[in-house]
Amino acid sequence: MTIDVQKLIEERPHLKDPLQLYARWQHFQESVAEYLPKERSALSAEESKAYPRANASDIFQLFVKIFELPAEEFVPLQKALENGDVDFMRLPLGDVPEIPSLACSDDELARVLFLFARPFFQNLRTSYPLDGGQWENGRCPLCSAQAALASIVEGPKRHLHCSFCSTFGTYRFTGCPNCGNTDSTQLTTIESEDEPGCRVITCDGCHTYVKVIEHPMLKKMGIDLADMASLPLDIVAQDKGFTRTVPNPISLIKMA
Ligand SMILES: [Zn+2]
Ligand SMILES: [Zn+2]
Repeated sequence: MTIDVQKLIEERPHLKDPLQLYARWQHFQESVAEYLPKERSALSAEESKAYPRANASDIFQLFVKIFELPAEEFVPLQKALENGDVDFMRLPLGDVPEIPSLACSDDELARVLFLFARPFFQNLRTSYPLDGGQWENGRCPLCSAQAALASIVEGPKRHLHCSFCSTFGTYRFTGCPNCGNTDSTQLTTIESEDEPGCRVITCDGCHTYVKVIEHPMLKKMGIDLADMASLPLDIVAQDKGFTRTVPNPISLIKMA
């Protein structure tokens, strides 16, 4: 049985704020479920790149309510979603859409869209299960995102985990998944006594890092909460100048 977010807050009170934000996202995901296509065969071309247009407005209303965002400021985004102008599948490529007259920065829009679209990606994984497959070039076979998370499983084999859709799959055991670097002198492991069960591997080739979650921690928490619980390790890696390639479950990519 995996631990839930409230229990994790009791265990790690220093992470209360980020974990409460994650709990909000979970609430949003549960609320969105009724609007999502259930069957693989039901996914039209339109539904494979965003929420069904007929429901876009309702889902957006839910989103601003649950996250307590100023709805009127986001009207241009709501219109773009209703018009089918936002292709969610561009987001894992780091491609943030231009929304005319929306008063927020690209980084803020990327964060909002990540939180908003993530239930779509999670549902896509249910429709097109690709867990366990090979990650060519270190990218998710379903949504093409790069990886910020890995785990070691029996074999031993290395799995990479997608922060957008949660698909996981195999990648060669050593080397940086973000640039393919296999020079062990450029790959450094960072561990912290405060954060047992996980470590960070940094790459001097592309200046990114990947967090490795040990199997017991993954089993106890699931990948989202393991990513949240190990947030202090992101800070350690980023303080050393390494970047995270994809957001954590609450849309943070830069922690400092
Ligand atoms: Zn993915
Ligand atoms: Zn690299």
